[in-house]
Amino acid sequence: MSTISHFVGGKAVSSTSGRSQPVFNPATGESEKTVLLASTDEVNAAVETAKAAFPGWAATTPLRRARILDKFKTILWDRLDDLATAISAEHGKTFDDAKGEVIRGLEVVEFAVGIPSHLIGDYSAQVGTGVDTFALRHPLGVVAGITPFNFPAMVPMWMFPVALACGNTFILKPSERDPSASMLIAEWLTEAGLPEGVFNVVHGDKEAVDALLHNPDVKAISFVGSTPIAQYIHATGTANGKRVQALGGAKNHMIIMPDADLDMATNALMGAAFGSAGERCMAISVAVPVTDAVADALVEKLVPKIEALKIGPYSDSEAEMGPLVTEQAKERVLGYIDKGVEEGAKLVVDGRSFKQDKQGYENGYYVGGTLFDHVTPDMSVYRDEIFGPVLSMVRRDSYQDAVDLIHGHNYANGTAIFTRDGDTARAFSHDVEVGMVGVNVPIPVPMAFHSFGGWKASIFGDHAMHGMEGVRFYTRIKTTTTRWPSGIRDDAQFTMPTLG
Ligand code: NAD
Repeated sequence: MSTISHFVGGKAVSSTSGRSQPVFNPATGESEKTVLLASTDEVNAAVETAKAAFPGWAATTPLRRARILDKFKTILWDRLDDLATAISAEHGKTFDDAKGEVIRGLEVVEFAVGIPSHLIGDYSAQVGTGVDTFALRHPLGVVAGITPFNFPAMVPMWMFPVALACGNTFILKPSERDPSASMLIAEWLTEAGLPEGVFNVVHGDKEAVDALLHNPDVKAISFVGSTPIAQYIHATGTANGKRVQALGGAKNHMIIMPDADLDMATNALMGAAFGSAGERCMAISVAVPVTDAVADALVEKLVPKIEALKIGPYSDSEAEMGPLVTEQAKERVLGYIDKGVEEGAKLVVDGRSFKQDKQGYENGYYVGGTLFDHVTPDMSVYRDEIFGPVLSMVRRDSYQDAVDLIHGHNYANGTAIFTRDGDTARAFSHDVEVGMVGVNVPIPVPMAFHSFGGWKASIFGDHAMHGMEGVRFYTRIKTTTTRWPSGIRDDAQFTMPTLG
């Protein structure tokens, strides 16, 4: 059984906390590794290391920082398969899906390599006679990222490439459920030439998170995870004077209008609801067909596809969907399917009966694709984020009813509409109160040079992640006003200076 240690000051370091927990392979249900859990003292020591590395890194020119990230990007491309394998072995997602995750993260590194351009400041000449003003962005210091299990490489890469490019030093606290990807990333950053202490990884649970939240040398926290924890991180971090961006959970609706291409919409729903076993914050978990006729046609098309889903371990290249991440996650999803039935939703395809019969994988955490029809907004399968391969269908009679349904939900991460009508699509993208919108695109995850973030209970804090929002989050602005001899007045001024 191997042990996953922390990474501080450019090397793997063991733990003195005496605390650890097993890491499971969800495909087999076997525990193959142990991850160390950091104590408060260990987290504080990592922050001290990152603090010591900050002045040197902040003084490194943006171009040099960019070149190190560029080298890291090349290493990532070359070792894509290694990172994807490490992800799949602990998360359970298919190998191709893991590769896709790495590539979407890598795109943020590509964005960050452009940092010299992103940091170009503002300059105003002659704001007064002989007086000029310029505004520049400065790094914050030590910043931390606390990340969820479902994208163990991509979500950290929403954060640290931009944070490092801006001149900050970084502490990553990855999910303790799939911690190995972060160690490969740390090693490869070091190999790319990142100075010691600039990027550090501490593994852990609430104790490690609380240590980061209370350490005054941590200037900003980026969090992605479930809404209750996001709320806690935001409240505690801001109360301790930190800048905080905390992205939370989701329940993403897809409206299917009567004029939509139903085959296109069906395929989109299959990928968006069941890809990665529904463990994506941008998964579509609610289908909203407009009119019963559309709903009936959709059910007819979806059922055979859901029943034919190929579910297997990541080593099976045919698999379309893997297991859930842990036994507890599996039990939770099964519990929601039971509840949906109790609450009166129509269970059209029941994933509870799925059995993995591949030899060696019988104890993996598999749940079959599940479809509920006639779901109503008061049901828990509708209100709660299930985070599993469960698609709920809520029928609506009109476009406006469908939009009102979305507006009644607490979460507002992503949404989509399938239609061929430009007018409806335009109205939807303008009016809907959701952070990320797709028109005939089921999972509208913005590219790296745009920014990722929802609205309402899907985000706490003011900045979305990556793109220019990331640059703004990880820097603070300094504005300098200069006067040269030709602008100097020879009298003292006692009133509020006005330059005009
Ligand atoms: P989680 O909230 O359980 O854990 C996220 C992080 O918080 C982990 O690093 C974990 O160690 C830490 N944590 C857990 N409990 C804590 C506590 N009590 N105190 C302090 N820290 C704690 O989330 P998860 O199960 O790993 O990930 C799934 C969730 O993440 C889903 O809700 C999903 O929607 C959300 N998510 C959101 C986005 C987004 O962009 N909005 C992206 C990915 C995942």
